Amino acid sequence: MHDIHVIGGGLAGSEAAWQLAQAGLKVRLSEMRGSGEQTAAHHTDHLAELVCSNSFRSDDAESNAVGLLHQEMRGLGSLIMTEGDRHRVPAGSALAVDRDGFSAGVTATLAAHPNISIVRERVDVLPDGPAIIATGPLTAPSLAGSIGAETGRDALAFFDAIAPIVHRDSINTDVAWFQSRWNKGDGHDYINCPLTKDEYVAFHQGLIEGEKTEFREWERDTPYFDGCMPIEVMAERGVDTLRFGPMKGVGLDDPRTGRWPYAVVQLRQDNAAGTLWNIVGFQTKLRHAEQVRLFRTIPGLENAEFARLGGLHRNTFIRSPELLDRTLRLRSRPSLRFAGQITGCEGYIESAAIGLIAGRFWAAELGGRTLAPPPRETALGALLAHVTGDAEAATFQPMNVNFGLFPPIEGRTKKADRKRMYTDRARAAFATWAA
Ligand code: FAD
Repeated sequence: MHDIHVIGGGLAGSEAAWQLAQAGLKVRLSEMRGSGEQTAAHHTDHLAELVCSNSFRSDDAESNAVGLLHQEMRGLGSLIMTEGDRHRVPAGSALAVDRDGFSAGVTATLAAHPNISIVRERVDVLPDGPAIIATGPLTAPSLAGSIGAETGRDALAFFDAIAPIVHRDSINTDVAWFQSRWNKGDGHDYINCPLTKDEYVAFHQGLIEGEKTEFREWERDTPYFDGCMPIEVMAERGVDTLRFGPMKGVGLDDPRTGRWPYAVVQLRQDNAAGTLWNIVGFQTKLRHAEQVRLFRTIPGLENAEFARLGGLHRNTFIRSPELLDRTLRLRSRPSLRFAGQITGCEGYIESAAIGLIAGRFWAAELGGRTLAPPPRETALGALLAHVTGDAEAATFQPMNVNFGLFPPIEGRTKKADRKRMYTDRARAAFATWAA
């Protein structure tokens, strides 16, 4: 008998199971690897296997959002952080781990826990009792079908198509201006970056020549849908395709010339706080360094700082901002919580963090208590708020933790001081919440 069923023994499911077991609940942890099943990216039967890099990224809690998230997770007794610290390898200010030692450590700790039974099985149907679904970006198709039947097929994506996201305060509004095409809606919902003919032609050439990342073998059948086609694929169709597509200048009056620009790059608000803006229609498989170089040639984006760069991958995730409540419960079926990358966060640590808080929400609920979500000023709270409601549901795409998700710091501040102000404020908010 178990109190709660955790499905998926990856980064999120392992952390969730640990938090629940530590709170005294009996956990059934179902993991299909080890039962003769495998995903296209995993190689072992270990829980919490790292499928690619061995880095948990920056461990700097003073000036980096993911470093701050590490610190908050340590404060909440995270198993992933404990094992990460135990298996640390030299990597400067980053936290990198011995991948085999790390995942073997997580597996052994969970296997030894008296409250956890690890069952090597593939789950094909959403369960009836209390559960956490943490089956990750490569969720088995059978279960994905069951999730799609519950959420509606449109609310479940099988690949991401990510356009770059820019920090609002790095956009040069002496050049770029606020306006919606034909002044529709509020009239100023977009930020527009104008290009002359020469600038456009050079930009188009840059897209054609830019180095692209290759699809992995098992990603080759990733479909391009209308509206999600990589910008460079569109550029290959002809020099004017973009100018009559996402880069058309009609209906936009450049205040510096009083005319429609030859071409335009538009950015649309990406989070409720208005600190992050995505470049409309710019999903791309250009290499990251190439994206930074090329997109900074766009007038107004010369100094752009990117909260995330574009990409296109196979990735199962649900439209969480619409489907989940603030505590990760599926609105249509509150006996289910979702956790990890399937909620639309991105990265090992972010996935584990959402697993951690999903476990704590369940532990509180099954114990007859209520746990308030961590405040948005904290890294955990900012990430949770992003996936459970702050992000735009219609354009929702996976996201790493970053300061653009945090409520902006009020008043005028020096840029050099800002990161420190975010982390100081976060620590104070976290201490109050945790207490
Ligand atoms: P996972 O860690 O994938 O865990 C999900 C688990 O659920 C798996 O063990 C799977 O076997 C199991 N499962 C699936 N379906 C079922 C089922 N029906 N029944 C039972 N078990 C099931 N992030 C980074 O931070 N750095 C990277 O370098 C990086 N590289 C990546 C490379 C690839 C190819 C992919 C796909 C992702 C990469 N990511 C990377 C993202 C990374 O996968 C996630 O950040 C993280 O592993 C997600 O954690 P999770 O717990 O949500 O999913």
